[in-house]
Amino acid sequence: MRKPFVAGNWKMNKTIAETRDLISAMTEKLNEIKNVEKVVCPPFISLQTAHELLRNTEIGVGAQNMFWEEKGAFTGEVAPAMIKELCDYVILGHSERRAYFGETDALVNKKLLAAQKFDLTPIVCVGETLEQYESNQTSQVVSAQTKLGLADVPADFAPRIVVAYEPVWAIGTGKASTGEAANVVIKDVIRKSIAELYGESTAQAIRVLYGGSVTGANAKEFFSQPDIDGALVGGASLKVDDFIQIVKQTQ
Ligand code: PEP
Repeated sequence: MRKPFVAGNWKMNKTIAETRDLISAMTEKLNEIKNVEKVVCPPFISLQTAHELLRNTEIGVGAQNMFWEEKGAFTGEVAPAMIKELCDYVILGHSERRAYFGETDALVNKKLLAAQKFDLTPIVCVGETLEQYESNQTSQVVSAQTKLGLADVPADFAPRIVVAYEPVWAIGTGKASTGEAANVVIKDVIRKSIAELYGESTAQAIRVLYGGSVTGANAKEFFSQPDIDGALVGGASLKVDDFIQIVKQTQ
């Protein structure tokens, strides 16, 4: 049985003071929802605040990115050990990082190996662009992202990886995929690619999330699919009632 998982990606939103307000407003209700792993991912600068506010709760804290090197002359970057002091999770290879900051599958893989080394649970994002979707390249693109991004981790760490299938055309657009279509990609492309890397039992053990315009109103459609284990939520994770509603839909 895969434990449901919902993570909120706050992207570049909320100051430290606003982080304090948002977390304070959602903690009690979120904490009451059991049997689901819940994670919030504020910007780097608010991770310390999130860590302090959530330390005695069942809500985890995640970073939205990290560098793969351990330390040194990498101006503006944040190292895995720095993340690990405040977080148990890290989002890797989000499509916005791929699109605006040139992240490739090879870089995502380096970051994944660093996450393994520093005992962080990685949430690895994959997904096709609108152009790739319209030219029927979804399987090919998502399979390559999965295989290159997830390669070479020790077999005992692989089941800990969380994959988020996020069609780029569905992110922040209000145009979510359908539960059925997302389930097909997750089952026939993502789990199949993982099985080719690590075998069928790992492919069945890894949690795979859907992401892309998930709301309290459509979450159930995704969570009721057999191969979808939860969601990576952007916009709706900044709204207390919406995020709680989404997490509740896993029950
Ligand atoms: C995301 O940022 O990962 C995301 C899925 O965003 P949204 O829910 O706003 O589409």
